[in-house]
Amino acid sequence: MTAVLYDLAGTMKRRTLLKNMGGLLALPALPAFLKDNPEAAPVLRVAHLTDVHLKDKFGAPDRFRRCLHHVQSQKPDMILNGGDIVFDMNKENLDAINTQWNLWHSVIRAECSLPMHYTLGNHDVWWNEDDKGQALYGKKFSMDQIGLATPYYSFERAGWKFIILDSVHLDIDNTWYIGKLGEEQMSWLEKELNSTSSTTPVCVMTHIPILTATNLIEDDIVNKWVMLGGDMHTDTSKIINLFYQYPSVKLCLSGHIHLREKLVYNNVTYICDGAVSGAWWEGNSRQTAPGYGLIDLYADGSFTEKYVTY
Ligand SMILES: [Zn+2]
Repeated sequence: MTAVLYDLAGTMKRRTLLKNMGGLLALPALPAFLKDNPEAAPVLRVAHLTDVHLKDKFGAPDRFRRCLHHVQSQKPDMILNGGDIVFDMNKENLDAINTQWNLWHSVIRAECSLPMHYTLGNHDVWWNEDDKGQALYGKKFSMDQIGLATPYYSFERAGWKFIILDSVHLDIDNTWYIGKLGEEQMSWLEKELNSTSSTTPVCVMTHIPILTATNLIEDDIVNKWVMLGGDMHTDTSKIINLFYQYPSVKLCLSGHIHLREKLVYNNVTYICDGAVSGAWWEGNSRQTAPGYGLIDLYADGSFTEKYVTY
């Protein structure tokens, strides 16, 4: 790079050259492998949008439109939607739920031309005790809206495997939700990883974080922290033990907490990507502004990523 600069500069004096190089050094750091191979380019750019909580209040539809324009200006290849798509279905009647989803579809149809792969959040599940008898109770209603035949699935794109998991399950007392996979999904995940080539890098998406420290940020701690089973996966230990056997698992994306966080454990990077809605469309959630994740994936399993406010 020095030689190229010098040729271009012609009679450029050494002092000027060094000054210009100082400017170059201010560029974002390249991943290690790119320094040796400047030709390598990302094979895929992914926008990770989570916790949109769309509703017709606080100007949310217009702000979400602006977000979608911003996302598309970054030229991603696809969107991963991390769940809590609509504002909240939990205790709503069917009319209110239809209104929320109709708003979602009208905004997406008009403003988004990218493929979108979804997982469900806890607010996308219909848990109204009075409606239990209905066929659409539970996850079925939302799965139909976004065209999911199963609540967890995988697909491959550009040499990466994407494993989309379903975090949200009823608590042991059947009254509220907790984060877990359950036995059936866990054995599916085992088989899925087992049948994936060890040279295929894996990106996992959940709604509830598999691992997070965000819940340790609490006010008024006296001598212990209390974490609810709905705040993080309760089967974290099992999932992490499984990932440890498969070094091809590189990246786990989540939402739910509305805080932006990135932590690395056993060489897996766990990113909680804030929330498109910030604090449910009422400003920042603690210090995290409304935004989304933008991730460049490389063929060798490395990636670069950032949180983008719009
Ligand atoms: Zn959530």
